[in-house]
Amino acid sequence: MREFDYRRADDVSGAVALLGADPEARYLGGGTSLVDLMKSGVERPARLVDVRSLPLDRIEPADGGGLRIGATVTNSDLAAHPGIRERYPALTQAVLAGASGQLRNMATVGGNLLQHTRCGYFTDVTSPCNKRVSGSGCPAVAGGEHHNHAVLGASDHCVAVHPSDMGVALTAFDAVVGYETADGPGELPLTDFYLPVGDTPHRETVLPPGALLTHVTLPPARVAARSRYRKVRERASYAFAIGSVAAALDVSGGVVCDARLALGAVASRPWRARAAERVLTGAPATAEYFAAAADAELAAARTLPDNGYKVTLMRNLVVAVLSELAGEVAR
Ligand SMILES: Cc1cc2nc3c(=O)[nH]c(=O)nc-3n(C[C@H](O)[C@H](O)[C@H](O)COP(=O)(O)OP(=O)(O)OC[C@H]3O[C@@H](n4cnc5c(N)ncnc54)[C@H](O)[C@@H]3O)c2cc1C
Ligand code: SF4
Repeated sequence: MREFDYRRADDVSGAVALLGADPEARYLGGGTSLVDLMKSGVERPARLVDVRSLPLDRIEPADGGGLRIGATVTNSDLAAHPGIRERYPALTQAVLAGASGQLRNMATVGGNLLQHTRCGYFTDVTSPCNKRVSGSGCPAVAGGEHHNHAVLGASDHCVAVHPSDMGVALTAFDAVVGYETADGPGELPLTDFYLPVGDTPHRETVLPPGALLTHVTLPPARVAARSRYRKVRERASYAFAIGSVAAALDVSGGVVCDARLALGAVASRPWRARAAERVLTGAPATAEYFAAAADAELAAARTLPDNGYKVTLMRNLVVAVLSELAGEVAR
């Protein structure tokens, strides 16, 4: 591992100043992702700016009635927070479906949203990979291993998926990301936070260089109280998703009056399923319409030889989760 300078920041402006716009510096959250990548040589920072002493470790009421989640809140504290459990249960379920208890105790909200893909070529510095070294090629597209790769929003330059579970639930609930730069603070919806893959898969977010993620705001949403996260993985625990769904449903008189849907492990970012939501809103709350909603979203899917199963998987997952939620409303 390359030798690096380690600094601990005590306040937000100090952290931003310590990092500067140095492309060789990185913020350090829990380190559960970054340190692994440093050990494998994928990340070779000259300086780490530890953000865990910053006063960003609280979950507080936000203006307008939502919740403001600090970027250094641990995954464990986020999942356990009573306001999250009651008002956004799918978020608690999503966080608890990720990693292990030990990792969740260390991992932070900021680090989870900014973790990189788990594509095996990305983490192997002996392989070409457009995301790691722009223009070097994509073995996954060129006949390589791709069974857990993207079916939505990908390009011929990269078909990697984003690994976050938390991000899928946050995306369903219209979360807004807050950040700080040397030029001042900024905010943007999580749905606009990750860049389309296009021919620049090495550029992952719209964050300006040196930006420190400071918080995530969840707007109030009555429908979110009746929500669920379901994750499919290749073993029962301690594994990344091969497909996941965060859904919320409000039904009145057998008709869907509000629906939120986001899909995980299908794209380079948590995927807000707006086409499906349009089909659901105002439709009868039945499996037939839930399937039609899934089909509307998945009509844009593009598959490779070994990941076509994801289209069927996601269709079944959407129908199952929405049917469960509709059943609860009816009881
Ligand atoms: C074995 C294993 C299994 C896992 N399984 C899952 C899973 O199933 N689901 C899931 O969602 N995740 C999973 N994870 C990922 C884990 O949740 C992430 O490693 C973790 O969330 C990253 O958080 P961190 O605070 O440790 O980030 P770090 O490793 O500290 O940082 C990650 C990245 O974010 C940047 N960063 C951190 N904080 C900030 C900030 N405030 N502002 C700007 N940039 C910042 C860092 O510079 C770095 O680039 C797993 C990890 C491991 C090791
Ligand atoms: S899918 Fe993306 S991350 Fe994986 S090898 Fe191709 S370019 Fe790299």
